[in-house]
Amino acid sequence: MYNQKMYGLGAVRSGIRELFEYGLRQAAIVGKENVFDFSLGNPSIPSPPQVNEAIADIVMNEDTLQVHGYTSAPGYDGVRKAVADNLNARFGTKVKPQNLFFTCGAAPGLISVLKALIADSDSEIVAIAPFFPEYRPFTEANGGKLVVVPPDMENFQINFAALEEALSPNTQAIIVNSPNNPSGVVYTRETLEKLAALLTRKGGEYGHPIYLIADEPYRELVYGGVEVPFIPTIYKNTIVCYSWSKSLSLPGERIGYVYVPEDAEDSSAIYCAVAGAARASGHVCPPSLIQRAVARCVEQMPDLAAYDENRTLLYNELSRMGYTMAKPDGAFYLFIQAPGGDSDAFSNKAKEHNLLVVPGTSFGCKEYFRICYCVSNDMIRRSLPVFETLIHEYK
Ligand code: PLP
Repeated sequence: MYNQKMYGLGAVRSGIRELFEYGLRQAAIVGKENVFDFSLGNPSIPSPPQVNEAIADIVMNEDTLQVHGYTSAPGYDGVRKAVADNLNARFGTKVKPQNLFFTCGAAPGLISVLKALIADSDSEIVAIAPFFPEYRPFTEANGGKLVVVPPDMENFQINFAALEEALSPNTQAIIVNSPNNPSGVVYTRETLEKLAALLTRKGGEYGHPIYLIADEPYRELVYGGVEVPFIPTIYKNTIVCYSWSKSLSLPGERIGYVYVPEDAEDSSAIYCAVAGAARASGHVCPPSLIQRAVARCVEQMPDLAAYDENRTLLYNELSRMGYTMAKPDGAFYLFIQAPGGDSDAFSNKAKEHNLLVVPGTSFGCKEYFRICYCVSNDMIRRSLPVFETLIHEYK
């Protein structure tokens, strides 16, 4: 006997990983230069040099036993203080080090927060399509139900009529991911204020708060000076899950944090439940070396010039060919209407040309496909004739 739910999660491979691995196999057959892989969101710009300098200096000059030793479970004091100070300076908040719980990236942060909030099998977690597919296993494996709000097809902000219908007395939390994977859209202040008003009204009606889980691995990835509002300053019952995976191009180092604001309802109990949930998932502490490195790099911002160039090139060229998409202001994704209306069929057809794009079905949006533009500009240029051939096949 074994756990069937866990078996299912392990046996069904993520479609994105399958495409990526298919690309590696095809490259061995047709040559790497003939495969156009837009499947995986792995950063393609190097970490700022300050990150490696900090790591080298820490390894060479700090106490080895401490550098490689366990830290306290929520993170060592230095990193909690550095992040609290940085958030306060940027957003005018009053974050204290003890409101932060460091995690091995956003994914374990999300899992801990969901585990902490899912009270029983009636608990519902709301996700707004298009959404990161892992929200489903993260919620369901912790005993909750994922309720999906259909997308706002016009501009990928929030479909408020559908959201209001999706809320119920069992709603424990809503996950908000802005800048968004897969659409690249950044929720405006107006959208977030409207959302805060709705959640406050509905929470009042139900007699318990609806927490907003802000999934923020892309917070620093925005173009053209677009504002990414810090949601706890708009809605007090916000719990932030942050990560340096994308902002400092450190996805393999596994570092991020959960922030539970002090004025959120039941703040200390929620923080304690997050710590308990992390403990139950085997969390001991995030790697000590990388905690110390990010403590020194909290002010470093990524140089987004290469992503921006890719974004502009793809948006302009694909729009010229007749593809339709929301203009992405953040992250490193484009979410494009699939010619023919069926993204699975389109992705399969693209595969025949060794062009790898991810169908939107698992993001809750079957009519669109996703491309990641964290790839080389040269590959994008070489792929453009393939995109053009494909759209002509549908005309
Ligand atoms: N949330 C979203 C929306 C993501 O796109 C990702 C990774 O791609 C994650 C969470 C997980 O990030 P991390 O590497 O910090 O666990």
